[in-house]
Amino acid sequence: MAFWGDYHTHTTYSHGTGSVLQNAEAAAEKGIKEIAITDHGLRHWFLGIRRRQVPRMIDDCARASAETGVVVLPGMENNLCTFSGRFDAKPSDLEKLSIIQGGYHKACASPSLVQEFTFQLRNMFRSFVSKSPQKLIVKNTDAYLKLLDKYEVDFIGHINRDIRADAVEVARYAKQKGTYIELNSKKLTITDKELEIMASDGVEFVCNSDAHSPERVGDMAVAVAAIERLHIPYEQIANWERFPSFRSHNYKRAVESVRGQAPAVDADGTEDDADVDKRV
Ligand SMILES: [Zn+2]
Ligand SMILES: [Zn+2]
Repeated sequence: MAFWGDYHTHTTYSHGTGSVLQNAEAAAEKGIKEIAITDHGLRHWFLGIRRRQVPRMIDDCARASAETGVVVLPGMENNLCTFSGRFDAKPSDLEKLSIIQGGYHKACASPSLVQEFTFQLRNMFRSFVSKSPQKLIVKNTDAYLKLLDKYEVDFIGHINRDIRADAVEVARYAKQKGTYIELNSKKLTITDKELEIMASDGVEFVCNSDAHSPERVGDMAVAVAAIERLHIPYEQIANWERFPSFRSHNYKRAVESVRGQAPAVDADGTEDDADVDKRV
């Protein structure tokens, strides 16, 4: 297996079991060149990284990079938390990060009481009891699209976990915006049917472990099983034998500082002018 990056890993800054350095060491052992540290977001009720811990997490990433040679990108598992497509993190929080992940967790506070009762509690209730009504799915889908307009989201993590949206519509819009859809290798939350439609529409994916322990860093078995089962072309897997062209200026800024002007290399091993342009 030759995944060059794993962009969704947890540490003790949320409820992972390893440190930033241990995740980086595990990646180095497996030949993974780049990882992101994406602990749970700032407004997650129980598990979120605290704002005051963020500078230390960023320092840890820089040190782990220097010690292991793996590029360690500071990130967070940012939560969609309003129907208007807002994250739990503020723009000033996001600016400090090197990769922008978008997701949803039911145990995440909304920024206002109104949103708490409309967006959050409605979705939470539905995730416990039964199928979401179509009206709510439409509103959630719209929230994802607004999120993609508002922020330079690099990838959407485990879409449809705890929240129901039209995953195919979100993926189509994500493609237009240059945002990848995650194939989460802890638990795949996209159905085979949805995946097949996304793949045939040319949606691009990024595979991630969602590791909560260093041992699981780079474990893409669940994602690979889906790729094989559904014959998804590896050219549509952005971290397979190449680095993704993530959308955010945060990521571009981060890789520029470590890789300098090094040309991006495509899956076929050739330099691509378009990629070089994107990186600079
Ligand atoms: Zn978790
Ligand atoms: Zn996660």
